[in-house]
Amino acid sequence: MFIVKKEIKGKDYYYLRESIREDGKVKAKTIAYLGKTKKEAEKKAKEFKQKIEEGNMEEKTGKKTIENKKITIDELANFCKRKGFVYPTAEIYGGLAGFWDFGPIGSELKKNIKDAWWKYHVHARDDIVGIDGAIITNPKVWETSGHVENFTDVAVVCKKCKNKFKVDESELKDAVCDKCGGELESKGKFVPMFTTQVGPIEEDSSMAYLRPETAQLIFTDFKLIQDNARLKLPFGIAQIGKSFRNEIAPRNFLFRSREFEQMEIEYFINPDKKEDCPKDAQIDNFELNIYSAEMQEKNQESEKMTIKKALNKKIIALPWHAYWLKTELSWFYELGANPENFRIRQHTKNEKSHYSTDTWDIEYKFPIGWKELQGIADRGTYDLNAHQEKSQKSMEIMDDASGEKILPTVVAEPSLGVERTFMVFMLDAYSTNEKEEVILKLNPKIAPIKAAIFPLVKKDKKLVEIAKNIYKNLREEWNVLYDQSGSIGRRYARNDEIGTPFCITTDEDSIKNKDATIRNRDTGEQKRIKISEIKDTLRKLISGEIEFKNL
Ligand code: ATP
Repeated sequence: MFIVKKEIKGKDYYYLRESIREDGKVKAKTIAYLGKTKKEAEKKAKEFKQKIEEGNMEEKTGKKTIENKKITIDELANFCKRKGFVYPTAEIYGGLAGFWDFGPIGSELKKNIKDAWWKYHVHARDDIVGIDGAIITNPKVWETSGHVENFTDVAVVCKKCKNKFKVDESELKDAVCDKCGGELESKGKFVPMFTTQVGPIEEDSSMAYLRPETAQLIFTDFKLIQDNARLKLPFGIAQIGKSFRNEIAPRNFLFRSREFEQMEIEYFINPDKKEDCPKDAQIDNFELNIYSAEMQEKNQESEKMTIKKALNKKIIALPWHAYWLKTELSWFYELGANPENFRIRQHTKNEKSHYSTDTWDIEYKFPIGWKELQGIADRGTYDLNAHQEKSQKSMEIMDDASGEKILPTVVAEPSLGVERTFMVFMLDAYSTNEKEEVILKLNPKIAPIKAAIFPLVKKDKKLVEIAKNIYKNLREEWNVLYDQSGSIGRRYARNDEIGTPFCITTDEDSIKNKDATIRNRDTGEQKRIKISEIKDTLRKLISGEIEFKNL
């Protein structure tokens, strides 16, 4: 950084300038105006450099004025209602337990989460295609999958506090009330599938189920999908959609709902090649926080280790599982979730589903404790086999590598709830500044509104017109917002609270310089930007191609 003196119309003006490299050339850029005398300029330059250094120190030490704030589930639910993310369904009639409506901001966030998931898991890969199956299907599907017989919970009521919840049959003997530790009374087995009637006449043959998971139609349509998309092993089939479970005790906001959405993949391989994972998991130094079945049985703490070590020590048996755990965790981390709040937990012998040979859950540290966020089960050939037998239609496909017809096995079934994911991103983004104002630090890729555009003053017609033109131009590509009401500070604060990453303001200078101010939500930093460059710059900021500080 250096001071330069410029003589304009016989008067001296001092500026602080900096050399930067741009397109391979070294250029000088003005950083600040320092006044009209040398003395004043030297003083201001010193102060300026000190400020920059303090800023750099803050960055180095991780000291921030905006900090993630721990909130309870109820606080999250209240915030979501107040800001238009999520409401109890039809609240004017008292709502309905386990059902939620997503408001104007929440429906955008939910859609962005699903789009980001689809992009990462389907569009960005050669080996996975997607489908969109029916919510209500032939009931034989659920008989064959084992859901009618095995997808059962035991309903229990606490004798002391009357708390109602479900327990796994294998755990019934030792279970106590999760609220007060009281003795439980079993109310018997219960199939948590909703039933409905198809057609106008109620008879047994017209009874159908609302699907309790999205996976099954991937299996029933398996041959068609594989053929249509010309898939070669190993490959996956993905689906996002609604699932319904008549949960005994829906609770904890969206965490346990009766209607929710799942994002699932069935990943198929040749059953004779379970050990072969072409994705280099064995040498991977990606760190996992592992809570294996053995650690749980011995009452040990979870342990951080690399994938490489976990595979060498046989804590994770299959490289394919390690690969999928990393793939799924990376998706969360890339979208801004805090790795410290994640761990992977292996299902114990008693817990595993009827179909699974090994299951790992990705758990998140919710305000109610470590809980399942995503299940990654090894489903084997259970489903394809069962549908093949029941329908008498072959599910075998040609494996080009071995030249044999085989029944593929599902080595991993990453199954993730949209609502629990929604909570994770909200909880990790929920931050406050020194004035206790909420700043929702959502990653720009999933932020409900990508930019808010304001004229500095609404009375100035020219500023309003420029701001509205910017708004119209940007909304061709993104969900953006135009706002002219209230003080500029209020408008910034309103947008910080709903996670809008960038605010663009037109002011007096915009008229002559054809530029505007762009403000970064997380630092409050502001820069001038040419109006003609806003769209391109915003695209790069959202994708992460450039950082705000380098604008
Ligand atoms: P839990 O043990 O919490 O009931 P689960 O093991 O039955 O979950 P899965 O059948 O593995 O859940 O479903 C896959 C994912 O779907 C879960 O990890 C979760 O994210 C989501 N999910 C399941 N049930 C619900 C629910 N009632 N409400 C919201 N999300 C759910």
